[in-house]
Amino acid sequence: MYGIDERVLRDVLEPIVLDIVQQVSRPNPDSIVKRVIAGKQHFLKGLAARLLDLGDELAREQLDFILVNAPDIAGRAAPLLYHVAVRHGALYAVEALRDLWTSYGNPTAAPCPRCRFKALTPDYSCIVCGSSISEDEFKAYVGLRSLLQRLKIRAPRLAIEAARAGYIYYDDGEVKAPSEPHSPLALQVYLSRGEKEELLSAEESAAMKSEPGTRRA
Ligand SMILES: [Zn+2]
Repeated sequence: MYGIDERVLRDVLEPIVLDIVQQVSRPNPDSIVKRVIAGKQHFLKGLAARLLDLGDELAREQLDFILVNAPDIAGRAAPLLYHVAVRHGALYAVEALRDLWTSYGNPTAAPCPRCRFKALTPDYSCIVCGSSISEDEFKAYVGLRSLLQRLKIRAPRLAIEAARAGYIYYDDGEVKAPSEPHSPLALQVYLSRGEKEELLSAEESAAMKSEPGTRRA
């Protein structure tokens, strides 16, 4: 069964059956089987959790078993299962894991340009695929220029504040000025000279250039 060996099956099934035997006043095979079938989900989840112990060794059918029978466990284990899915070339599994990670795992405030999971941390490393990302790669991936435009339209004063400070926070699809509340997982993104100018009108940009002490990237 799904390449699960007898020992693992026995280890998972035994405590469940013993539990049932203790609960049933006159245990007989029939009543035990009925109870096991009634607790099938519980049993399948137990098996899925045990399969995770195989780590990188997981076979493709075992990966499928976990995804189908224990989506919550799969979501939490996405950093492990992602690598298993990639090794097996199982793109459908990668897609499924991406959603399960967002529902049951520990999604961060920013997507990783490499694996596209919401798993990029404030130090620009990815919890799921393990990549380290440069600021430039991240900016291109999320389309920072158009996000800056949106900030400028949403809150012109905050856009000026961000341009003067020289950085913004990327928080779950939104660009926020330094003084705005943001998630502790938001990414601090330093702005290039061109990006700062993007946040300002032509007049403000000229005024800022003539101001002494203004930091330029
Ligand atoms: Zn990644």
